[in-house]
Amino acid sequence: MDPQVLEKFRRQLEQELKEIEQQIEESERPVATELSNYDNHPADNASDLTDKLTEMVIDEHRGDHAEEIKHALQAMEDGTYGKCAICSEEIPIGRLEAKPEALTCVEHAEKMDDDLRPVEEDVLSSTPKSDDFIELEEFGSSDTPQDKS
Ligand SMILES: [Zn+2]
Repeated sequence: MDPQVLEKFRRQLEQELKEIEQQIEESERPVATELSNYDNHPADNASDLTDKLTEMVIDEHRGDHAEEIKHALQAMEDGTYGKCAICSEEIPIGRLEAKPEALTCVEHAEKMDDDLRPVEEDVLSSTPKSDDFIELEEFGSSDTPQDKS
């Protein structure tokens, strides 16, 4: 690959990684307005739990994306960037421009490209993410003060 093009993708990925890490940091910081909302609606546990779950899923997604970018940056270090991790074919430059963190060709992208898949596919094939959801709900409902006393 042209070193200048590679450098362009590297800068793009480093910038994106920085932004994601900032977002994760911000979402972990306690926010004063959220606390006062909670005080005003002490009985609103259900939607509070939903908010927490949504936040966790978004964080998890951000974390996954950050991992993808780190892998791509590692591949640049290793000199394997731009080749499909599965079939070793060159990844078309147009695909890398649309998704510089891509580590596979379009053909082998099913596993890596959750973002680009239609939602229906997630519903049809049960993914580990939906299992996490059920576990979190069970944990949340058994951890109420009523159950402890
Ligand atoms: Zn491939």
